[in-house]
Amino acid sequence: MNGSYKRTILYPQPMKYILSFSVICFILFGCSSSKGIKSSFSSQEVNLIMHSDSITPMRVYKINNKKDSLLLRTKSTYIKPDLKDPVLQRFVKRLYATVRDSISMGVGIAAPQVGVLKNIIWVQRFDKPDMPFEVYLNPKITKYSKKTQKVKEGCLSIPNRSDTLSSRSLTISLEYDTMEGVHITDTVEGFTSVIFQHEIDHLHGILYLDHLQKEIKEVSNSN
Ligand SMILES: [Zn+2]
Repeated sequence: MNGSYKRTILYPQPMKYILSFSVICFILFGCSSSKGIKSSFSSQEVNLIMHSDSITPMRVYKINNKKDSLLLRTKSTYIKPDLKDPVLQRFVKRLYATVRDSISMGVGIAAPQVGVLKNIIWVQRFDKPDMPFEVYLNPKITKYSKKTQKVKEGCLSIPNRSDTLSSRSLTISLEYDTMEGVHITDTVEGFTSVIFQHEIDHLHGILYLDHLQKEIKEVSNSN
């Protein structure tokens, strides 16, 4: 005993269950809805996404803005594929509008780049006929080839520069969910695999500059 007085409230047994059930319900559902919209997104994300129509690009977060850079360094979380989720539908369309925006004209984009911490990316498939843009939920790289490739990279979140990296894997194995909730495994190589590596890094708060720094450090260590 440390001398402090501890007061205990004794609830009848059933009351205890009701109370703990209410607490669990609050944790599960309390912070995930806004204005009656049920969604896997946070209420802040719902507001950001539903603020404009599906063809309006979103603001791209940049590393030279302190607040933006903190978010860009944060890990994203799982998103449940759901064709009936109006927020998810609006978001993937607006994320596409952002990467195709005349200012951006990117070849890939990840959700954290517009301030949404969910595992969602768009990638242009240069390895497919007509080079379509495709959206992927919860993408995960399961295998990196030892063989690497030298590719010039830029990033919508890192203004006014591009750099050549030589540490990107030539081939990757990956898995992801489609919007319909189908789980797919795939093997991708060449430039398209670099886009996947770059965008999936964003979901872990990693930027291509981190790889560049590592490469420079390795070269100076070997000299
Ligand atoms: Zn990027």
